[in-house]
Amino acid sequence: MSDPVPAADPAPDDPRLHHDPVSGRTVFVAPRRAARPHDADRPADAGTMSAPRDWCPFCVGNEHRTPPAWLRSPPDAGKQWRSRIVPNLYPFAVECPLGREAAVEQASPLTRSAHGVHDVVIESAAHERTVAAVAADAWRDVWELCRQRLEMLAGRSDLAWATIFKNSGPQAGASLEHLHSQLVALDFVPSVMQAEIAAVDRTPGLFADVIAAADCAGRIVAEQADVVLLVPDAPRQPFEAWILPRTTEPFFHATSPARVAAIADLTQLYVDRLEQLVPGSHFNWWLHQLPFGTRAPATARAAWHWHLEILPRLSSFAGFELATGCHITPLSPDESAARLMQAGA
Ligand SMILES: [Zn+2]
Ligand SMILES: [Zn+2]
Repeated sequence: MSDPVPAADPAPDDPRLHHDPVSGRTVFVAPRRAARPHDADRPADAGTMSAPRDWCPFCVGNEHRTPPAWLRSPPDAGKQWRSRIVPNLYPFAVECPLGREAAVEQASPLTRSAHGVHDVVIESAAHERTVAAVAADAWRDVWELCRQRLEMLAGRSDLAWATIFKNSGPQAGASLEHLHSQLVALDFVPSVMQAEIAAVDRTPGLFADVIAAADCAGRIVAEQADVVLLVPDAPRQPFEAWILPRTTEPFFHATSPARVAAIADLTQLYVDRLEQLVPGSHFNWWLHQLPFGTRAPATARAAWHWHLEILPRLSSFAGFELATGCHITPLSPDESAARLMQAGA
């Protein structure tokens, strides 16, 4: 009997995963990303290309320059959109036809097709550069769109884990200034996640301890709907903060509307305070929720708190950080929290 799905040869420039057996690191080799648009490439001469709308693929009016949206807010196509989630035109993980894997894996045990989903979350129709510029209700809609998209992907048996991450500013890796984030779903669980899951599996009260320590030391910066914004015990940079619910909840995509509103409001509050403390600072954030379904051990599923880690990029990672995985910061966690709270006073 022949295979019902013809095996397709991967295109030579399709993204591939390369595994480093020494470190356990995974590298995505994605040649097509070299062609992605970059703010730095736009014409220097103002002339006829002076308005962002002339060159920015994310601006309202340029919808033809991105693939059709998976989701948009508001959902009614007759109304002007405020945010959209679209497939990334330069993905580092792509939907691979069935049958391709076997052929590729035979070629080398250390490389295979990078199967997954890579979307862009366009967070405003206007050419805004900061989260602080978005109306509070529109910003809540952005987080609800992300929750819905994660929920859509969570039911797929071929995907293991997903995240949302933001690169804000060139020092944080942003290539376009128009406000956006990215959503990625993969068919494996990355090593950083595996390490966090193993830690919670060993010590189920870990997140409760993080919150209790922050309560005790006065490092809870803000709180809404039982979701806290805190400075952790070991911040990698001044003003690093985490947002997480006080009670266990493995999946952000299954959280309540009140908590979706809370993460939206707390991220806006944080960006506003960071901007007051260090005007123009660049930062990353990323969501750590558990692998989909029952892929994580039962102990971790019972004890996990989804969390958003927010990392300002006030100094760059250098040789020591890369050599050791350790970080050096000039500001204590208590002082970081105190300044974040004073900025709102
Ligand atoms: Zn734009
Ligand atoms: Zn984490």
